[in-house]
Amino acid sequence: MAVHRSRDADVNAVAGGYLRDLAFAQSSQQKMFGYKRAAAAILALDVPLTDLVGPDGALPRIPGIGPGSTRVIREILEMGESPSVEQAIEGSDRREDIERRRQLRRHFLSRAEVRRVLSDQSFAGPALQQYRGDLQMHSEWSDGNPTVQEIADACLQRGYQYAAVTDHSYGLKIAGGMSMAEAAEQRRAIDDVNARCGNQFRLLQGIEANIDAAGRLDLADDEAAVFDVVLAAPHSRLRKDEDQTDRMLAAVAHPAVRILAHPRGRITGSRAGVIANWDAVFASAAQHGVAIEIDGDPARQDLDHTLASRALQAGCLFALDSDAHTTTQLSYAETALAHARLAGIPAQRIVNCWPLDRLLAWLSRPSSERRA
Ligand SMILES: [Zn+2]
Repeated sequence: MAVHRSRDADVNAVAGGYLRDLAFAQSSQQKMFGYKRAAAAILALDVPLTDLVGPDGALPRIPGIGPGSTRVIREILEMGESPSVEQAIEGSDRREDIERRRQLRRHFLSRAEVRRVLSDQSFAGPALQQYRGDLQMHSEWSDGNPTVQEIADACLQRGYQYAAVTDHSYGLKIAGGMSMAEAAEQRRAIDDVNARCGNQFRLLQGIEANIDAAGRLDLADDEAAVFDVVLAAPHSRLRKDEDQTDRMLAAVAHPAVRILAHPRGRITGSRAGVIANWDAVFASAAQHGVAIEIDGDPARQDLDHTLASRALQAGCLFALDSDAHTTTQLSYAETALAHARLAGIPAQRIVNCWPLDRLLAWLSRPSSERRA
């Protein structure tokens, strides 16, 4: 078959999007889950579909992809679009919902595109080798799986010099938020990990505090002071049409906050997250020495490179984090790095690219690093 290759198109993201459209056009739950699984498999592929087509035009078998999905993929490779998915949408009564979901999939990168961006030397942003440690991840102490020792081992394997475990604080019950008593116990477990690692690696105790509707944190000031790094993130009011600039301005002005994590709280194809005057939020973050996070969870990608370049203009620092809940998800940091490269963020503006002593100095005195 003739392979359609439009320049700069993330073909796996296009295919994953059409397969998700097709999933939502199904009336059978079983078929819906099948197409969702197929979409997830394509979005997680390491190589673009265009590279998988053999010289005879044949597509190899891809695990998780059935004949219906293969037909869609062939259409996309030949035409750049899928008439059969459009037909299925027309035959369903879901056109409006599917169009809404399409809008909520903008500026998401597939895994293959992340890898391409990381290996393309023409980008000015940070290289994978410059990344020294990940500052958002979850352990068994809240809604993650791994122990803190497993996290340290996996981070060492990735070549990191440090990382921060950032479990949810007690206000977020749904995510198993840690009580302050549990946080004290976790601190002892982290001290043990650090004693075993010597000066090879340093595990920090962070916390992901929840930003309430008024922009307050679910931590008192003396409680926040217990942690090495405080992230603040919105987990509610993420589907509202109203402006929430004041809420986000209050959060970045909080003296304990060092990182504004997944600033919008968007989820691909599902919700847009917080609506705010982001340029105002970024300007205030830059003034307060608060780093803006690029969350690399493939479903979040928050900020994406388009908003990140506006934060760069505003003079912000950045944190590029995985938001991993398992040790294999630590690779999500690469998604964040790809967005930073697309936005052209210099490594010196990225706190994860700093040596540990500079990171610790910033954590204790953010204003001293304001003009990074
Ligand atoms: Zn979160």
